[in-house]
Amino acid sequence: MEKHVIIIGSGLGGLTCGYILAKNGFKVTVLEKNSQIGGCLQTFTRKGVKFDTGMHYIGSMEKGQTLYNYFKYLSLLEDVKLSALDENSYDIISLDGTRYNYSIGATSFVEQLASHFPTEKQNLKNYRQQIKQIAESSPFYSFRAHTPRHLSPFLYLEQRAGDFIASMTSNTVLQNVLAGNSPLYAGVKHQTPLYIHALINDFFNNSAFRIVGGSDSIAVSLANSIRKMGGQVRTQAKVTKINCNDYDAVSVSLENGEIIPADSFISDIHPAKTVELIDSHLIRKSYRDRILNLENTISNFTVYLRFKPNTVSYLNSNFFHYAGESVWETAKWGDQFLYMHLCPTHHSGFAEGAVLIADMSFAEVAQWQCTTIGHRGEDYEQFKYRKAEQLLLQLEKQMPGTIPNIERYYTSTPLTYLDYTGTEAGANYGILKDACNLLQSTVSQSTKIPNLLLTGQSINHHGILGVIITAFLTAGALLGLDFVYEQLRDSF
Ligand SMILES: Cc1cc2nc3c(=O)[nH]c(=O)nc-3n(C[C@H](O)[C@H](O)[C@H](O)COP(=O)(O)OP(=O)(O)OC[C@H]3O[C@@H](n4cnc5c(N)ncnc54)[C@H](O)[C@@H]3O)c2cc1C
Repeated sequence: MEKHVIIIGSGLGGLTCGYILAKNGFKVTVLEKNSQIGGCLQTFTRKGVKFDTGMHYIGSMEKGQTLYNYFKYLSLLEDVKLSALDENSYDIISLDGTRYNYSIGATSFVEQLASHFPTEKQNLKNYRQQIKQIAESSPFYSFRAHTPRHLSPFLYLEQRAGDFIASMTSNTVLQNVLAGNSPLYAGVKHQTPLYIHALINDFFNNSAFRIVGGSDSIAVSLANSIRKMGGQVRTQAKVTKINCNDYDAVSVSLENGEIIPADSFISDIHPAKTVELIDSHLIRKSYRDRILNLENTISNFTVYLRFKPNTVSYLNSNFFHYAGESVWETAKWGDQFLYMHLCPTHHSGFAEGAVLIADMSFAEVAQWQCTTIGHRGEDYEQFKYRKAEQLLLQLEKQMPGTIPNIERYYTSTPLTYLDYTGTEAGANYGILKDACNLLQSTVSQSTKIPNLLLTGQSINHHGILGVIITAFLTAGALLGLDFVYEQLRDSF
């Protein structure tokens, strides 16, 4: 008889696990608290302009590259339309008044940066080579090992990205340039593991794309596939409790009072939120306390810009700005931001909208945490207005002429992310991975409840690639890790 698995949360992690398990004969039920599926893949539309909220660009999508292979396995290639970022400047690092372009491919990457730092060419070559080697130490990235147990990136998780970069070059400007896209991994100089820096940089340097028509296409495609394979993806189905007997989890309770039994359970929500759903002696106090006290990554404040039609030329690059000379430390809020145009739906050469993102800690909005969306009060609206205007002034200095072409803007804060994804403190990428405290900051996909597994960005890595890899590890705990690895490699 087919086994029934309940998946809590329809983020990328939950849907990917659902796809793998449905493909392998499980009866899958995905339960989502919101009316829209996808978690960070959610989008919203204002006056015909669709805004991504948590997935703006993806990498390694040329035929045969890592994410392309995963998309092929997950039947996503047909449904997700892509547009390549500028190969000479997929990322622009604007540092202390100078702009440095990252270009696609190891050779071009080195050449471009060496044009600013001619005496550093060999160091740049060494850096790029090492980044590739480190990324490929993961079997689920390179697919080179015969079994997933043969290669391990563990060594590089215990090294700090900041130390590694400093060991590659003594030029402090170049060190900062090489860390210039660290908002992609919420980089913290003395904590971020080298492996995360290497994986993300190699991933995007292989090829980089925006998603045409919105990142929700990924969630919709995965959910449709799950349904086609006999599974269910339910919205407005908030899980309020995971019910256990003396040995196992037996069912979940929903907010509407429904109780759904299953054989296995996977939680795609933040681990702290998962333990709050469990009132069982199977979860020991020490585990609960550890999970509840783990440090989270920073959250963000975003301004979503809708432009007047045909006024702002499309910028086919991601613009990482730092007013000062350091990427890791910022003196004043607003001096650092990430600016990205939405991929235009028409080939007019003009952008319809953009996102302007700056780090923001939850503490800044904690005073409004007991309020609900749309009813947070005038002082909250004023706070958002002040922050947006501050950020827009900084943007205008870098992209003169933008402000007059904004028709309307919308904002989100860490509270928005908390409400729409349920992630602790609205943290961008869930739990912070700390190279100096690796065991403490790492949460395994297994729990003390034998039939409850965890998945999602807090467990292994975040982002499109990290979360998909994690889903394979989680599904592998039910199906056998060697089996899913082999099935994946056979699908290429
Ligand atoms: C601002 C921002 C920009 C980003 N940009 C990129 C990018 O450009 N490229 C990239 O690769 N990655 C990016 N990421 C990271 C990426 O989006 C995430 O790592 C990934 O989507 C997280 O997926 P997840 O499944 O772990 O969790 P989530 O997306 O958080 O999904 C969790 C789901 O669980 C649901 N849920 C919570 N509680 C319950 C409950 N009790 N019952 C039922 N359902 C529940 C939530 O509503 C949500 O749908 C970005 C993230 C942010 C925040």
